[in-house]
Amino acid sequence: MADTIRTEVKKEVAAIKKQGGNICFAAVVVGNNPASLLYVDKKKKACEEVGIEMQVFSLKCSEDRAKGDIVIENAGGEDFHHLQNELNMLLDKLSKDKKINGVLLQLPLPLGLDARKAISFIAPEKDVDGLTEQNFGKLATEQDGLVPCTALGILHILKTSGVDVAGKNVVVVGRSNIVGKPVSLLLLKENATVTVCHSKTGNLTEHTKKADVVIAAAGCPNLIRSHMVKQGVAVIDVGINRTEKGLVGDVDFNEVSRKASLITPVPGGVGPLTIAFLLKNIITCFRMQNFG
Ligand code: NAD
Repeated sequence: MADTIRTEVKKEVAAIKKQGGNICFAAVVVGNNPASLLYVDKKKKACEEVGIEMQVFSLKCSEDRAKGDIVIENAGGEDFHHLQNELNMLLDKLSKDKKINGVLLQLPLPLGLDARKAISFIAPEKDVDGLTEQNFGKLATEQDGLVPCTALGILHILKTSGVDVAGKNVVVVGRSNIVGKPVSLLLLKENATVTVCHSKTGNLTEHTKKADVVIAAAGCPNLIRSHMVKQGVAVIDVGINRTEKGLVGDVDFNEVSRKASLITPVPGGVGPLTIAFLLKNIITCFRMQNFG
């Protein structure tokens, strides 16, 4: 599925270049969180493959802060304000740069930095991750806007696999702004009956057992087990967890795959679709800026 989207994007980029256009995308990364650096690298490779220029801007911060070991009393210190300001100003500058079509802030930020504040400096028409208040508001009110890439990827997997969610019980595990909430809104728009579960949900199994579709986006290895789902369930595993056994999702794949009519693996499931929809969102940004 991801290959098909990438091929489409590649053709679109070629057509834009033929008309003299150039698509340029900027990613900002703060600190040296290995997972964040890896994701930025993957995005860069994907952009290169389809002919999109990607520029990476790295802001340095102390080793301790990057590891999340910052002493809380220092969180409001002079140095911290300086870094937040630097980040906000960089996002603002990139947003105003006519040569740049899309801007992404790689999350999570090192402890003590305010991601919400920083995101407010990204221009809505360049917000490839769909995280600004403007784009989130559009999604919530069913207007066209930029939608978070993972949520788009999940819906695409379901649709392409022939899972019609209209009237079905869908349980989304996780309520983050980047996955849980946007995918819930997209599924509501598709007429699903959506239940959103989270870390404070009393009895998760009570909900997942009734679900026709389970979307696991909690960041907890093997949270969803076989006894928690019904026969024939469709399962989308969004989780990416680094364990001693390597990368695993939020779903116990071996167990749950025996009951599921559809299940996505980790790695190689939602991840590649997220990147493919990032490329698509960059093109959407370019078109909005150039053709209104
Ligand atoms: P997050 O930490 O911001 O949110 C996690 C959510 O899960 C929270 O709402 C929390 O309440 C809920 N949760 C945590 N533990 C739970 C539990 N035991 N039971 C029920 N709910 C629980 O994380 P996120 O950014 O939304 O990411 C979630 C997972 O998806 C992570 O593993 C992340 O790496 C992965 N992810 C994958 C992709 C992809 O492209 N495949 C993209 C984004 C995130």
